[in-house]
Amino acid sequence: MKIVLIGIQGSGKSTQGNLLSKKLKVPYLSTGHILRDLSKEKTRLGRYIKETINAGVLVPDSRIIPIVNDYLERKEYANGYILDGFPRTLAQAKVFNGSVEAVIYLNVSDKEALWRLSYREEDGQEDREDATLLAIRKRIELFHKHTKPVLAHYKRKKMLIEINGEQSIEKIHAEIMRKLKKMQ
Ligand code: AMP
Repeated sequence: MKIVLIGIQGSGKSTQGNLLSKKLKVPYLSTGHILRDLSKEKTRLGRYIKETINAGVLVPDSRIIPIVNDYLERKEYANGYILDGFPRTLAQAKVFNGSVEAVIYLNVSDKEALWRLSYREEDGQEDREDATLLAIRKRIELFHKHTKPVLAHYKRKKMLIEINGEQSIEKIHAEIMRKLKKMQ
């Protein structure tokens, strides 16, 4: 199955993505990871991506779309994937139409996400340069501006599964599985 996970940072996407990946036996990938890997390369593209991520803004659609398309053409993704972090703008969603079967939105309030993330930061679990609370707040704002229209787009297409992300990990996973089955 080709599944997209959407939610603000701290909504539990990678936890749920990895659980789904095990259960459905399809790989999990996140554009954040792909971009952070690319940003380590000593190329023009690598340096550009590093600056963009550290500035806390989105990588332009014209750059991210070919990167993701290239990745998804690899044979390990032929039977499906759990994709986290893409599409993040309406333009990305529109060129991606053929490659998604279900979109899962983990709905967590900004307040809860910030609380979870500041706790994570104190724990020293986050070593990302863009993980300061200010940067996280900025990304949450970007989510409301750019990604909310993506949710509306998939809702119109009846592909959206909305989940209350403020429940236990197990409950959320079970609800996702139940709703995915209903959709098939
Ligand atoms: P994430 O780990 O998903 O928070 O992504 C980290 C950073 O990578 C974001 O703040 C953006 O700069 C960039 N990024 C990840 N996914 C996308 C995307 N779909 N479109 C544009 N930029 C992205």
